[in-house]
Amino acid sequence: MVQLILAGMLVVAFVGLALIVVRVIQLPSLRSLEVDVARLAATRAAGVALTARHELATLVDLIMRQAIGLTGAEGGAVCLYEHNMLNLVASHGLSPETNVEPITTSEGVAGQAAALQRTISLPDYALWSDHRGIDPSSMPIHATIAVPMIFSEEVVGVVVVFEVKTGRHYTDSEVAALELLAPQAAIAIVNARVFNDFQAAKATLTTQVEELTMLQRVDQELSATLNLDSVLTLTVDWALRRTGARAGTISITTMDGAALVPFTRLGYPSGAIPYTAENPAPLTWGIAGRAARTRQVELVSDVSKDADYVPVLPGVRAQIAVPMEVQRKLLGVLVLESDRAETFNVENLDFISRLSARAAIALDNARLYRESERLADDMAALYAAGRAISSTLDREELISRAAQSMATLLDVSSALIAEYRPDQDEAIVLGVYRLGTAPNASETLPPVGTTWKLTAFPALRETLTRQQTRALSASEDALSDQDRRWLEDLGVMALALVPLTVQPQTLGVLLALESRRERLFTRDDLLLCESLAGQVAVALRQARLYDEVRELESLKSEMIRMASHDLRGPLGNLMGYLEVLVNQLGPTLNTAQHGYVENIRYATRAMKALIDDLLSLEKIESEHSMKGETFDLAALTVEVVETQQASAGLKSQSLSLEPTAGSLKAVGNVTQMRQAMTNLVYNAIKYTPNGGRIVVRVHDGDHRLQFEVEDNGYGIPLDRQARLFQRFYRAKQPGTEDIPGTGLGLSLVKTVVTRHGGDVWVRSGDGAGSIFGFWLPKPISDSS
Ligand code: ADP
Repeated sequence: MVQLILAGMLVVAFVGLALIVVRVIQLPSLRSLEVDVARLAATRAAGVALTARHELATLVDLIMRQAIGLTGAEGGAVCLYEHNMLNLVASHGLSPETNVEPITTSEGVAGQAAALQRTISLPDYALWSDHRGIDPSSMPIHATIAVPMIFSEEVVGVVVVFEVKTGRHYTDSEVAALELLAPQAAIAIVNARVFNDFQAAKATLTTQVEELTMLQRVDQELSATLNLDSVLTLTVDWALRRTGARAGTISITTMDGAALVPFTRLGYPSGAIPYTAENPAPLTWGIAGRAARTRQVELVSDVSKDADYVPVLPGVRAQIAVPMEVQRKLLGVLVLESDRAETFNVENLDFISRLSARAAIALDNARLYRESERLADDMAALYAAGRAISSTLDREELISRAAQSMATLLDVSSALIAEYRPDQDEAIVLGVYRLGTAPNASETLPPVGTTWKLTAFPALRETLTRQQTRALSASEDALSDQDRRWLEDLGVMALALVPLTVQPQTLGVLLALESRRERLFTRDDLLLCESLAGQVAVALRQARLYDEVRELESLKSEMIRMASHDLRGPLGNLMGYLEVLVNQLGPTLNTAQHGYVENIRYATRAMKALIDDLLSLEKIESEHSMKGETFDLAALTVEVVETQQASAGLKSQSLSLEPTAGSLKAVGNVTQMRQAMTNLVYNAIKYTPNGGRIVVRVHDGDHRLQFEVEDNGYGIPLDRQARLFQRFYRAKQPGTEDIPGTGLGLSLVKTVVTRHGGDVWVRSGDGAGSIFGFWLPKPISDSS
């Protein structure tokens, strides 16, 4: 295009030259010939000079001055044709009152030249305009030439020269010089316009490409990294480069969304921004705070007129604050500051908004990632704490583990457990734990056993009586005087109180104490405490129940032992004297009296059986160490079966022993084993009707010795089998209700067998007979 225009200029110059040569040939005077040749050379030089100008304002000024120079005129003007109007863009020598309003093409001499597309040369403009009904005083000039500047049949503008004084006339050669200049000027103007348009287009394109590159880099960075620092630094850096601003920050909203923490800072001297993570900026702070509150981009071109502006850097004129949101959730604010009022405009606002929208995604991703990591950590810690707590039934141990878990889980300097005594309206410290990393924490922890009268501790009382989790902070204005004193006494700055409840009871309270720094316990922190407290409360209750059961057990054993011993003597007397009486009175007793005597005998025997069973069970259970003698289980089985043959005979039952191959060596207490085996065989006889069949087996398994007794008696329904080996349990069912017993026999079997390292089993069904058995481990040495 530019080459085309230059070629055009050459052609026009050539044609112009030819024209002047023709006119020169017609002129007679040698003197004027010289002047014309000089003018010709000047015109050519002027045309060349025009092509070097691209800036439109300079160019039209140059055209005007060249026109004046070529014609020796007093004044000149250039009008450019734009939007159907001729605009005066350069002038010289016009009086100040001249009307320079844009004119339509047909008006005035310039308008005429443009409309007719030819040179108009007037001896006197004043006369001419008066003639045409135009007020001559609006343009007080006389001799005038107006030459249209035409390019490609289009009028680009008009170049005018004029005389302010009367009496001067322009020569043909002067008109010709102007006519030669005009097309070159037209080409130079078009050229400059094209050049300027091209430059503008290039600039726009460059910016767009630059913006796209930046945004693409942000996108790449976003998908490639969770490194918030690098993404946000890039964002501020690009925003500064794009706008030419001096300094910029991105602040991130705090967890509760109530404040802003400066995260990335570029262009600020260190310490210039007075806020930090520990001391975040409130949303009332500066234009950034306003953007956060209104969720609008705040573009302030003159900060001195903005009441919210807080000066951080000297000499700042303009500021822009862009809220960064994802799904209407405010994540941060981008702030840019500049020394120039016009730095932030509509064009770069669009870019900054798009840039910050992308950075907001990075913020959101990082937040989600942090949150999921934190949740996973919390869950793992809670799980570990839960396991530690539930794996002990020892109360002391449990309390110490619970306090330790609480301190670790919340990362507080220490934790404390206190028991609630509602009757006394007080709490007693059961255990305290100080985190290993906070050995120098300044708190004064109360010793175990300290009693807190609840009247003096309102927050503690509220937690215990209302079962409400609470957080206290020394910086809280609403803190009661008593609670404030409590925090001071403990030497802590923040405290969380979590009730230990197993509905409907409140067992106590778990305290998290922080003395190293100010701390606001978040909702999440408190939820975590509550989960832990739930587990601690259940474990505490279990430990308490376990202690109670243990206490009851030993009390019961003691009672049984005492009662049995105390009963055995009188009962022996009773039975002895009964027999003496029966012997002496026997012949005199009638049938009914014989019945009474039998009843007494039956009852006393039952009492004796109960006492014997109780005592032998107690004896076995209280024997803590077990004597380990080696015995032959096969031989012991033969002995037991032998001694029970008589009982079986009384019920016409067949009691047999399946043959075994040789001896079966076992280690343990023979007396106890004999008792256990006898119980099983005797039960089979008892719970099998007359004429039944009982088989006893003992054999050598791979690693075990097995003993079992099978009968074809009453059997036991499945639903009554679970508790068979518990003390005093009797599975009464049709047929067995009247069979005497204590419900202690099987319990003794189980105690003995488990003490020998084995276990018991039963297979039975209602009316289907039963198999009771047990296994014992084989002795390790020379078992062959
Ligand atoms: P008991 O003194 O009542 O026999 P045990 O502890 O020896 O006490 O037995 C518990 C219960 O188990 C018995 O009351 C009986 O209901 C059931 N039982 C035990 N052995 C047998 C068996 N061989 N056949 C059927 N029921 C049995």
